[in-house]
Amino acid sequence: MKIGFIGLGNMGAPMAANLAKAGHSVTGYDMAEVSVEGVEMAPSAAQAAKGVEVVITMLPNGDILRKVAAEVIPAMDKGAVLLDCSTVDVQSARDVARQAEAAGLHALDAPVSGGVGGAAAGTLTFMVGGSEEGFAIARELFDIMGQKAVHCGPSGNGQAAKICNNMILGVTMIATCEAFALADKLGLDRQAMFDVVSTSSGYSWSMNAYCPAPGIGPVSPADNDYQPGFAAELMLKDLRLSQMAAEAADADTPMGRAACDLYARFVEEEGGKGRDFSAMLPRFEKRGRSA
Ligand code: NAD
Repeated sequence: MKIGFIGLGNMGAPMAANLAKAGHSVTGYDMAEVSVEGVEMAPSAAQAAKGVEVVITMLPNGDILRKVAAEVIPAMDKGAVLLDCSTVDVQSARDVARQAEAAGLHALDAPVSGGVGGAAAGTLTFMVGGSEEGFAIARELFDIMGQKAVHCGPSGNGQAAKICNNMILGVTMIATCEAFALADKLGLDRQAMFDVVSTSSGYSWSMNAYCPAPGIGPVSPADNDYQPGFAAELMLKDLRLSQMAAEAADADTPMGRAACDLYARFVEEEGGKGRDFSAMLPRFEKRGRSA
């Protein structure tokens, strides 16, 4: 396939490199000076989008996606696919899809989980919104960049799945960390706490697969001084997107809101920026009820 790839940062560069390695012809554009193995660079987003079957975008946020989409949609051939893999707000995803479809394109929103490691290894999970037809065209690219792609329904539903999942993750990580901090104060050994909870009804991915307590459970960022992994500021971005969506849809999400507020304090006031999102445990550990 001929592919245009716009946004070659931490995630986009290894994703584009994997597509090129698999034999696809990839033309890239990034506003920063970058080079990616196997990818020919174009002088603009519109140039990268011209004459290709699929344009992939991997950008920081919804405003930038809207701007880039306005440049590339008019340059793309009818019947081509605009495949956005960025994490953005649901409304931007739906607006961009509407514009693309009005121009005779297929549009897919396909945010990922798996992080930079998954992007490099080609083991991302894609949560996809958009038409069956668009999904069928992009399928072989998902298979190269990832290990799983779930079609979640019409445009915007990929973003909806991503922010709902990450809202659960943020809330359960906080619950797991505050429970460890309480257990410490009650004199309960952390290993015993893990052995019980990981096989009882309190278990979760946060406890069982990504335990926030150093030296306990499987190896996780806690064992590497909370180097990310999944940085607290990226969790905050996703929790903010989930709160934006909850407001727009009039959904009552008190735990999601509490998690968002806590990660905002952690990142903006308490030195959490650049630390893994499981570093909530040392945060709670140091505090008492009145803090
Ligand atoms: P990044 O900042 O490393 O990369 C973004 C790239 O977009 C940069 O290279 C930047 O120069 C480029 N860019 C910005 N504006 C542009 C424009 N107008 N035209 C062309 N290029 C432009 O970010 P990242 O970590 O690669 O994340 C990309 C997306 O993936 C984000 O939406 C993020 O939320 C999501 N995501 C990231 C991770 C992760 O672990 N990093 C995990 C899952 C999802």
